[in-house]
Amino acid sequence: MKVYKIACIPGDGIGQEVVPAGEEVLRVLAEVQGSFKFDFETFMWGGDWYRKHGEMMPADGLSHLRDKDAILFGSAGDPHIPDHITLWGLRLKICQGFDQYANVRPTRILPGIDAPLKRCKVEDLDWVIVRENSEGEYAGVGGRVHQGHPIEIATDVSVLTRVGVERVIRYAFKLAQSRPKKHLTVVTKSNAQRHAMVMWDEIALQVSKEFPDVKWDKELVDAMTARMVNRPATLDTVVATNLHGDILTDLAAALAGSLGIAPTGNIDPERRYPSMFEPIHGSAFDIMGKGLANPIGTFWSCVMMLEHLGEAKAAAVLMKAIEKVTANKALHTGDLGGTAMTKDVTRAVCEMIKTK
Ligand code: NAD
Ligand code: MN
Repeated sequence: MKVYKIACIPGDGIGQEVVPAGEEVLRVLAEVQGSFKFDFETFMWGGDWYRKHGEMMPADGLSHLRDKDAILFGSAGDPHIPDHITLWGLRLKICQGFDQYANVRPTRILPGIDAPLKRCKVEDLDWVIVRENSEGEYAGVGGRVHQGHPIEIATDVSVLTRVGVERVIRYAFKLAQSRPKKHLTVVTKSNAQRHAMVMWDEIALQVSKEFPDVKWDKELVDAMTARMVNRPATLDTVVATNLHGDILTDLAAALAGSLGIAPTGNIDPERRYPSMFEPIHGSAFDIMGKGLANPIGTFWSCVMMLEHLGEAKAAAVLMKAIEKVTANKALHTGDLGGTAMTKDVTRAVCEMIKTK
């Protein structure tokens, strides 16, 4: 029997509530499917680890993850530690260390979810946004000099490389090609950013020649926000830089009903390293430790993980179970206007898998 080795990193805040829920659902799914098993190993890295050891994860942390088939991640972010330390010390260390250069975020309005756009029909909003995940605005290049003095300067330099741009745009074209609409929108800002984004546009045009069956268009990032709200049905697959993608995917999640539902995969398409799957939400300081977190974003991330592992059938079973549960308003958590707890939603999804 196939055994998948999965690293679980709950991290901070509600990450510690939703990751165990994801593990439980995956265990039940494997039992019911009967053709594969999971071997989970949990790493308690994050804010508490930082308070004890002065770092978010051990210096040799990646070596514990390298031979895993995938990573299930919760959230990094602690009320008492600056956000740039928690983010760079854990999540980005893994994304960059394993060169997970494509951040993939599907968005749909699931059954039973009250999405905020009045004129948007459920079938109008079915997107996958690919965010460049290894360089660009979050390359980490820059510095501060003369700190605290009137002459202080600070820079964050956006770095785009031909290799980095080409590989993520090619990944997005391939993904677009695999979807029924075969349509890709390349997000840009080459009117104002006249060096790197112009190269980005040029590379998009070059790569597009490899995919004659994919229709594609270009949209400036500011106009893109309006298009997502006003003409959602004109979008299907989208590719954007790290910062642009970061912002557009939060907007997408909100338009689909809640941050608590949205999933993401940090993918190494070449499969040299394990890919990492996580809900897009953060630690949610306002509700942590209370059992109120919506675990659906984590469950949907597990669906992406199963697809990545090649378990398409199991992925479809889990997605169906999720949709049956969201369709029932009595099983909505607080973020969706309901009163259900994390454990209620988890139990319901497990039951749904068993009765498939
Ligand atoms: P957040 O996602 O933690 O919370 C935003 C709002 O959405 C809060 O009101 C929260 O209660 C609600 N919410 C989020 N997920 C929910 C869920 N599953 N169920 C119910 N409600 C949910 O974003 P924030 O407040 O901007 O950030 C808090 C911390 O998390 C910060 O330290 C931030 O850096 C970190 N963060 C980490 C990640 C990550 O690790 N990938 C992502 C975003 C934010
Ligand atoms: Mn973000």
